[in-house]
Amino acid sequence: MPRAETPYSGLADTWGRQNRKLHNKSCAECGSDFRPRRAGASYCSRPCARKKNGGQNVQLQTWWVNSKGYIEGRVLTAQGHRRVKQHRFVMECHLGRLLREDEHVHHRNGVKSDNQLDNLELLSSSQHTREHNSERVYRRGYKLNLSAAERGRRSERMARRHSDNRAAALAKVEAPRG
Ligand SMILES: [Zn+2]
Ligand SMILES: [Zn+2]
Repeated sequence: MPRAETPYSGLADTWGRQNRKLHNKSCAECGSDFRPRRAGASYCSRPCARKKNGGQNVQLQTWWVNSKGYIEGRVLTAQGHRRVKQHRFVMECHLGRLLREDEHVHHRNGVKSDNQLDNLELLSSSQHTREHNSERVYRRGYKLNLSAAERGRRSERMARRHSDNRAAALAKVEAPRG
């Protein structure tokens, strides 16, 4: 029976079978002669492929939005893989150093996912609290612009309520159980 014609180019594999499609190539990194597995392969091995970007051509950053609306991610840095909040990471890249825990990064326009550098501000934790409290709407107290008389009445009422609560609590403790 005649042998079927091989559809391939007739390149011999290591056993002398003429079944190879692709010619050997020279590795773009180390120059060694290798047998490509795909037509598009340019490197002999994975280490050689990675070297083309200084060993860094793995995926450097992945980002997602966390349950609180902040962008969070995993990045490859000099410290290895790190889990970071994007606004803090942007500030760290800008300053060229890591942030301490008491250093907060504030979103000037209040949009948690707007992490452009000019929307971010580095604050100490106390400055940050002050910043947010200044925007806070107080439902009671000084922001109500009460007259001195009204403030006095309210203060008395609260004092009375407080002492009533206290009396009620004492009565409960002293009441016989049964
Ligand atoms: Zn190579
Ligand atoms: Zn803030």
